[in-house]
Amino acid sequence: MADKACRLCRRIVKGNICPACKTTELSKNWKGVLVVLDAESEIAKKAGITAPGRYAITVK
Ligand SMILES: [Zn+2]
Repeated sequence: MADKACRLCRRIVKGNICPACKTTELSKNWKGVLVVLDAESEIAKKAGITAPGRYAITVK
């Protein structure tokens, strides 16, 4: 598994920079995947997610 997760927004990123935060603060040590299709959904709001995408549930 080469994917990393952004430490700031928890977005799962391919490559070395988060496209949302423009940060290289990525971690390989993450667990769980939350797929957000609708940023207006209750789940997205509870998770603090504002854009559709794949997110890690926990990032260390
Ligand atoms: Zn990010």
